Amino acid sequence: LARNLDHLAKLPAVTSDGHRVRLLVNTGLMADVVRSLERGAEGVGLFRTEVPFLLRDRFPSEEEQREIYREQLEAFAPLPVTMRTLDIGGDKALAYFPIEETNPFLGWRGIRVTLDHPEIFLAQVRAMMKASQGLNNLRIMLPMISGLNELEASRKLVERAYRELLEEGYEIVMPPLGVMVEVPSAVYQVRELAERADFISVGSNDLTQYLLAVDRNNSRVANIYHALHPAVLRALQEIVTTAHSVGIEVGICGELAGEPGGAILLVAMGYDMLSMNATNLPRIKATLRAIRQEDAHLLLQQVIHMHCAEDIEKAVHSYLKKIG
Ligand code: PEP
Ligand code: MG
Repeated sequence: LARNLDHLAKLPAVTSDGHRVRLLVNTGLMADVVRSLERGAEGVGLFRTEVPFLLRDRFPSEEEQREIYREQLEAFAPLPVTMRTLDIGGDKALAYFPIEETNPFLGWRGIRVTLDHPEIFLAQVRAMMKASQGLNNLRIMLPMISGLNELEASRKLVERAYRELLEEGYEIVMPPLGVMVEVPSAVYQVRELAERADFISVGSNDLTQYLLAVDRNNSRVANIYHALHPAVLRALQEIVTTAHSVGIEVGICGELAGEPGGAILLVAMGYDMLSMNATNLPRIKATLRAIRQEDAHLLLQQVIHMHCAEDIEKAVHSYLKKIG
């Protein structure tokens, strides 16, 4: 198996009829980085920066953050590393920054927290940009964007940090600034967001949770959490079509990208980049290399008009069985 993976790592992610897709990884710890490189990842589609914050008993300083970010950027250079600004709140609580709410997933989460605490946001983006000096492979991504004003406010802060660093003598380039589409309101504003952002990445875990109003971590309702729900599939198609129409690349970094059936449907929809856990990457690459994009389209056409998630899951399952 080890040799098999090694062999696969060097091959491109391309369907048998020549459609190229980029496969990236989701990271959090340095351990993920080594595994990802061994498996031939083409960059990082989502670095969950809250992971190093969760492992500490206080906020890491700007300098401590710079070191952490530098390690990731250096390991992947010249491949892109997409760093998401702190996404705490919801299910991710920092012991040293308690947030108590009755409805945390609809509360103070992600960009809402860091825009209310610009000092946290600024220290983080300064550390990221300092770390990118001489490498220039940094991309910054904003979580939980629910409207244009949050993107505008974030861009102002990133630009301010960039100007200050230039004045301090750092030789850096302004990193691309991207938006996660994971809140339903963002689906209906994809055009406006895509016109103002440098890239879009779909967070299908939260998007599914919020579209279906099903807590992603509640086992009691796990049976109705369907990433292949017709409403979710329509939203996913709408996002990529709209973003492409304004000439912007679209990736996805939710778990769906790491599932063979999900990956096939996403490729059929036109997603340019799939970002996943390194564990799933070889299997997804093997799946995509085994199919024709044309067949993926046929599967998508078959399921996109189905009325319930269970039927879609069955159709996808039998397709996967057919291709072995
Ligand atoms: C998502 O919501 O799909 C996502 C990739 O982010 P997280 O799982 O960290 O919320
Ligand atoms: Mg999310």
